[in-house]
Amino acid sequence: MSEGALGRGELRDQFPILTAHPELAYLDSAATAQKPRAVLDAVQTYLTTTNANAGRGTYPWANRTTELVEAVRQRVREFLHDPEPARSTVHFTGGTTEGLRAVARDWLVPLLRDGDEILVPFTDHRANLDPWQEAQRLLAERGTSVRVRALPYQPSSGDYDHRALGDVIGPRTRFVAATHVHHVYGGDMNVHRIRAAVGPDVPICLDAAQSVGHQPVRLDDPDLDVDFVVFSGHKAMALPGTGAVWARNARGPAFEPTGWQGTPNTVGIVSLGAALDWLDAVGPDRIARWTTALTTRLTDRLRHLAPYEILGCPTSLAADAPLPPAQRRHGIVTFRHREIPSDDLGFILYSHGFMVRADSLCQAGADERDGSVRVSLHVYNTVEEIDRLSAVLTSLV
Ligand code: PLP
Repeated sequence: MSEGALGRGELRDQFPILTAHPELAYLDSAATAQKPRAVLDAVQTYLTTTNANAGRGTYPWANRTTELVEAVRQRVREFLHDPEPARSTVHFTGGTTEGLRAVARDWLVPLLRDGDEILVPFTDHRANLDPWQEAQRLLAERGTSVRVRALPYQPSSGDYDHRALGDVIGPRTRFVAATHVHHVYGGDMNVHRIRAAVGPDVPICLDAAQSVGHQPVRLDDPDLDVDFVVFSGHKAMALPGTGAVWARNARGPAFEPTGWQGTPNTVGIVSLGAALDWLDAVGPDRIARWTTALTTRLTDRLRHLAPYEILGCPTSLAADAPLPPAQRRHGIVTFRHREIPSDDLGFILYSHGFMVRADSLCQAGADERDGSVRVSLHVYNTVEEIDRLSAVLTSLV
C-alpha cells in the first residue's frame, strides 16, 4: 500500500508540527487537522503583506483583501465541483456548528408552517441536532408547531435505516438534515438513498464536517443532490475558526444570512483557500484511498483482539468485505476495551505517543458512560504509526 509519496512519508514532511515531533503520532484529525507548510506560508504572507479589513476601505490592502475573500468563495465552489456556480452562494462561518445554526435560523425557520415536519439525525454529532431543535423551539414561541422526526438509524450497519425512511416521510416533510460521514463510526451515510426516498423537491442539508478534505465531495455527482454543504475549514487543514456553508439555492428561497455580518475572519478565509489548493493538488481521491487503507489495516488487526469492541458497522471491517467502497470506513475507527475505561486507555496511548480522542465524542444522545477511543486519520499518517499502535493495543490484551 505504498501510494508513492504517501508511502514514503513525503507529504508528512510538509507538516512542520509533525516533523518537529517525530516521537508523537497525531491520530485526532476528525477533531481538527494539522496544517501543511503551504497554508502556514499563505497566512504569513497575507499578514505581512496585505492584512486589512474586507469589504471596507478603498486603499490597496483593503481592496486586495476583499478580492482574496471573493476568490476563496469561488474556490470553495470549484473545490466542491459546483455544477451551477452562478446560482449558488458561499457563506463563511467559524465551523460546521455555526454553519448549521445559520441554515436553521436564517433559512429554515422562515420557511416552516404550522404542521410541517423535518427529519434530522438523533445519533450523529450534536451540532447537527441542536440547531433544528432550537428552530422548533423558536417557532413554538411564535405559535407555530413543527414536528422534528428522527432519521431512522440502524446500529448494525452504522448507517441510516434507509428501508424505514418511508415510515417517517410524509406529505408535510419539508426538510432533511443528514451527515455525510459519521464522526464516530466513520461510515458513509449514503445520502443518495435519502434523496431517493424523499423525492426531488425536499431540501437536504449535509453536514460534511468529516468528508470535505478527506474524500471527494462532488456536487456534480447526481448521487450528491443536496441543497446545503456545511463544513469546517479547520478539519480541512485551514486555520481554526473557519468554515463555510455552500447553498445551491434551487429548492426554496436563496440562503441569505440575516443581520449585520461584521468583519470576516480574513486570515482564516485566506488559509482556507490555501488549504483547498493543497488538498486539490494532492487529490481528494488519493487522500481517501490512503486513509481507507490505513483504517482497514488497523481494523484488520483490532477485530481479532478479543477485548476490543469496534463501534459501528461490523461488516465494513474486513479488508475483503463484499462492500462497495462507499461503505468502507473513512479514516475513523472508534473502539472500547472491555476492561480498561476509555479515558484510561486514552492516557495509556498518549504515554506511548499516540494522540487519540477518548470521550463521548459530542455524539447526540451519548453521555459520559458512553466513552470510547477514536482514532482518526489523515493523509499525513503512516503505515508505521498504525503498526506501532496495533502493537501497543495488542500488548494491552
Ligand atoms: N459535525 C460533525 C460530523 C463533526 O464531526 C463536527 C466536529 O467534530 C461538527 C459537526 C462540529 O464542527 P465544528 O466544531 O468545527 O463546528
